[in-house]
Formats: sequence, structure tokens, C-alpha cells
Amino acid sequence: MASPSRIEQLCIEKGMKMTGQRRVIASVLSQAEDHPDVEEVYRRATDIDPRISIATVYRTVRLFEEASILERHDFGDGRSRYEEITSEHHDHLIDIQSGRVVEFQNRDIETLKERIAAEHGFRLVGHRLELYGVPLDTKK
Ligand SMILES: [Zn+2]
Repeated sequence: MASPSRIEQLCIEKGMKMTGQRRVIASVLSQAEDHPDVEEVYRRATDIDPRISIATVYRTVRLFEEASILERHDFGDGRSRYEEITSEHHDHLIDIQSGRVVEFQNRDIETLKERIAAEHGFRLVGHRLELYGVPLDTKK
């Protein structure tokens, strides 16, 4: 395989042992621009190495999550989805018909959340926001 992916690099920095299969899974997750669930990561990983089992994908994804490399999301359909943790914070808007996930940033929302926390005597250290919708042109 080519040069280490971003996630593989992070794993190495955190002292994790990188097997060939872990490297494949790390690279699949580094390349993902969506929020794949384990099944989807498994599909993409087995395109590269058909010997990878779904159990290995589950284990590896959990390992990456525990190492704060991946963030897990629940977008309301009961399936855990994953994305690489980045310094760039964003929120999610989910199309409940197609499952498509739109990422957005909104300064007003960030300010509002900080204000709400402060009003209750807190300094905000994290938050999650998911919006659920249907496209405007959807027939009722
Ligand atoms: Zn996202």
C-alpha cells in the first residue's frame, strides 16, 4: 500500500500496532467523505483486502474510537456512523428520506450554545447537534 493515511499516521503517533488489515481500514476511513457505518466500512475495506472480516472492522473501529481518532454518530436510524475527528467543528443535517448527511457550520448557533451554557453557569466544552429534515420540494 502507498504512504500511510492520516488515520494510520495518528495511530502510529499514539503507539498503536498497525497490522496490514488495520492499515486498510484506517485508509478507508481517512478517504471517507461521508459518515459510513461499519457495514459500509467493511464493504470498502474488502474491496481492497477480501480477507478482512466484519468482526475485525468492528474491533478496529471501536479501537480508533477509544483512541479519539474517530467520532461516532447516531443519526436516528439506530446505526452507528463514523467520521474522523478534526479540529474543525461542524454540525449535521440529516435528510430522513435518503439518509444523506449535510455538514454545516453556523456561527449564530455556536454563540447561542455558549450563551445557554453560560446562563446556566457552565463553560461549554462540547456539544452535539443534529437537524432532521425532508427536502423542501418533497410532496406532502
Ligand atoms: Zn460530519
